[in-house]
This record gives sequence, structure tokens and C-alpha cells, in this order.
Amino acid sequence: MPPDDLARLAKRLDGRLSSTAAERLRTARDASPAVGTPRAVVSPAHVRDVVTLVRWARRTGVPLTARAAGTSLDGESVPVDGGIVVDFGGWNRCRSIDPVERIARVEPGLVNRDLQRRAAREGLFFPPNPGSSDRSTIGGNVATNASGPRSFRYGPTRAWVRGVSAVLGTGETVTWGTAAPKRSMGPDLAALLVGSEGTLALLTEIRVGLAPLPERRLGLLVPWAPEQPWAGLLRFARGPDGRSLSALEYLDPRAAAALRGSVAGAGSADHGLLLLEIESTEAREERRALRGVERMLRSAGADGPILRFPDAEELWRIRGAAGSAIDPGGSPRVREDVAVPRARIDELRRRLDRIAAAEGVPMVLYGHLGEASLHPNFGVDPLSPKGRRIRAKILRAAQALGGTASAEHGIGSIKRRFVPAEIDAPGLRVLRELKRIFDPDGILNPGKLYPPGGRAPSRSPSATAASGLRRG
Ligand SMILES: Cc1cc2nc3c(=O)[nH]c(=O)nc-3n(C[C@H](O)[C@H](O)[C@H](O)COP(=O)(O)OP(=O)(O)OC[C@H]3O[C@@H](n4cnc5c(N)ncnc54)[C@H](O)[C@@H]3O)c2cc1C
Repeated sequence: MPPDDLARLAKRLDGRLSSTAAERLRTARDASPAVGTPRAVVSPAHVRDVVTLVRWARRTGVPLTARAAGTSLDGESVPVDGGIVVDFGGWNRCRSIDPVERIARVEPGLVNRDLQRRAAREGLFFPPNPGSSDRSTIGGNVATNASGPRSFRYGPTRAWVRGVSAVLGTGETVTWGTAAPKRSMGPDLAALLVGSEGTLALLTEIRVGLAPLPERRLGLLVPWAPEQPWAGLLRFARGPDGRSLSALEYLDPRAAAALRGSVAGAGSADHGLLLLEIESTEAREERRALRGVERMLRSAGADGPILRFPDAEELWRIRGAAGSAIDPGGSPRVREDVAVPRARIDELRRRLDRIAAAEGVPMVLYGHLGEASLHPNFGVDPLSPKGRRIRAKILRAAQALGGTASAEHGIGSIKRRFVPAEIDAPGLRVLRELKRIFDPDGILNPGKLYPPGGRAPSRSPSATAASGLRRG
């Protein structure tokens, strides 16, 4: 990129472009091992800044990578091809909440937890609650189709997007979706941007649906023997006794050890733990639901004490603290995110155990069990040959069972080569054609999501030469 091009852009953006080493370093990583240093960081102030930037990028061929909180785990927000990071972190306002339509109109950089707080004042909540909800943003959640424990009952972010405003890779501004409770008018254009990882458009506003806040949320903590199968539990959880459940999570004995430090009486150290949440509107309903859930747990094989947390938030707070205790040093590790059809969940676990045994590396396993969505963790450098091999084995194991290499985190730069095992050739062609329509010059977040090879829009050779690429 000729330096005067960048200087001209900085002038047009009136100081909202920074190329200081500190800013470039800050945006060179997310929570994954991927690294890519941008030439500059732009913090747009208005939609017209975003349009200016996209038009400039089309002209110069310089790539743009949207960034919000940078908590993604597969390099989604890392500018692996250099270029410019578009930082939406400052777009953090909740513009309005319509309590009748139960829709929040938010800026993409609004932190998930801040939306929860704002919605609670109206007696509402935003159901997707990823483990990163104290940092991750609604824009990031939409662009990765994030989930959380409550997705067991309420589904992923995709289920809650009611509309978007965005700047396409063409430089056009669009507003898609409606506040009308229903509409039947062709495919849902807003839905195309969910999970698109900033490769099709830059989101400038998001309208999300909200759900009524239940009056009561009861948390349960239940010891679970590691050898006890899960499939029966998942069958019961989907039946009449599980109807009140909003979350069903699992921690294996290693992950549970961190939590046991702060909860007395949570079963013996050789047991894992189930974490459940029951939603209800009043005490009698809660007691009835609890009886059903206890019946379900006993029938599925739970035989230890069932600890109750009258306010489930307390349980989730302890669980969150245990999350950082699993890896206090934040050392690099293989940290995966797979899901399978519920009936195959025990087979997945056996395969993961076999991978750990064959590689001679202990595994820490936890996840959103109710959705057969697991996070196997291995204390190995994910960029080492061994780390890469372990990751490939995990992802292929899930795919071989009819599952997925990405349950909720996304594909980013790290998992692209695993996509063709799940999306057939016509499907990949459609995805690439969509990319071409939305982003004809391939300027939006290159090196992500779409598998390597194939005919995707390519950037100009000068732009490629100008970027400082280092890939995780
Ligand atoms: C401790 C921890 C726990 C986690 N737990 C969960 C979990 O339970 N469930 C889960 O699903 N994920 C989880 N994650 C992963 C991560 O938090 C999610 O993927 C989250 O949605 C990313 O949000 P973000 O604001 O950090 O986005 P970023 O990382 O900044 O960006 C993510 C993607 O969104 C794109 N993007 C951002 N803003 C825009 C925009 N305005 N327009 C277009 N594209 C945009 C970026 O280009 C990128 O592709 C966890 C991560 C950590 C570190």
C-alpha cells in the first residue's frame, strides 16, 4: 500500500485512523493462536466513515478486518492478510428497546452483558449468553453465531437476529429485516450475515429479539461419574421432565476440581459435574419442575447429592471463575469446539478419550452437554505438529459422527480446511458465489471461513504484497 494512500485515507477520516505500534499490536491477535499485524486501525465514528473506508479499500485492494472485543477463538478477528482493522469497540450503545415487539436496536460493539443489564430493566433478556458475555459483543456474537448455556432452550444467536444495517463489500448500505412480528418474503437476507465472520459486510446496527425474563432461575449442581453414559440423560432432558430446563452443562473431574474449591459438598473428586438451570414463574411451578428434573437425573444414573442454588446466577458466576482456574496461566492449548447429534455423544467421548490415550496428553473436557456440544482441551501448543494433529483428530472424529468441527466459535483462519467435509461441493459453490456478490473484490476479512482453493474473489497483487502476513 503506498504510504500516501494511507495518509490520504487518514485525512479523510479526520484522525480516526491510527498506525501506532501500540494500536497495531493490540489488534494483531484475538483469543486464538493466530497472529497478523495490520497496517493501521480505523475507529469509525459514523456509517459514512465505514462507507468511505470500504470504497477506499475497493480502490486500493487493501483488506479490512472488522473487530469488536477480539475474543474469538479461531482467528476470526485477526487480520491474517494485514491491511486495516475496523474497530467497532466504541460502537457500544443500546439505541432503543421496544418492549412490545421485544426488540433491541443496538450498535455492534455493545457488550453482551451490557445488553442483558439494559434489557432486564424492561423485564427481558437476550438469550445467547456465551462464556465470554462480560466482554464479547453483539456484533461478534452475530458474526460468529455464538451460543451459550441457555442455547439449550433458546437456540443460538441466529434464532434472535431480527434485522441488520450494514455496509456491504460493494460499499452499499443496506437495512434488512423488519420489526413486524411476521413476514414471508423470500429468503431472510439478514440471516445470511449471521455466522459470516465479517466476510460479507460490516455490521453497523443490529436488531435482536429479546425474551421475557423468567421470574425464577434455580441452579443445580450434580456429581456425574465419568463412565456414566450421556445419551440417556440427553433423551430425558428432551422429554417431559426436561421441559423446564434452560441449560445443561458438563465439567469433567479435572475441570470440576477448580469449581469444587469454592463449593462444599459437590461430590467426590473422581466425579464430573452437571450444571443445570430450571426456569419458572412461581414457587409451585419451580417445585414441580424440580421434581421432574430430579426424576430425570436419577433415571439417567446420577446418584450423588443434588446441590441447589436458589439464584442460578450464583452457579454461573462460580462456573465462570472455574473457567479461568482450568488454565490460570492462559498458556496456549488446543481448545476445541465440536458437536454431534445427541445420539452419538457417547461415541464422541470414547473417540476423544482414545485420542488423549494415543497422544499421551491428558484431556480436560467440558461443554454444553444438553446440545451435545463439547470443548475438549489439551495442554499442547496448538501450533506444534502434535497440537495440529490432535486438533485434526478431534474435528474429524466429530465430523465422522455426523457432527461439526465448529459448534459455536466459528471457522476463522484456523479451521478452513475442515469445511469441505461438512458442506458439499454445490454448497461451497453457493457460498463462494455469495461472497462474490457481497464482496466482489475480496476485501472483507480474507483468509477466513472459506476453504483454501476454489474460485473466490482475489485481491490485487499490490495489496497482497503490502500486507505483513503471519498465520496461526
Ligand atoms: C473465555 C471465553 C469464553 C468463550 N465462550 C464462548 C461461548 O460460550 N460460546 C461461544 O459461542 N463463543 C465463546 N467464545 C468465543 C467468542 O467470545 C465469541 O465468538 C464471540 O461471539 C466473539 O465476539 P467478539 O465481540 O469478541 O468478536 P471479535 O472476536 O472481535 O470478532 C468476531 C468475528 O466477528 C466479526 N465482526 C466483529 N464486529 C463486526 C462487525 N461490526 N461487522 C462485521 N463483522 C464483525 C469479526 O471480523 C470476526 O470475524 C469464548 C471466548 C472466550 C475467550
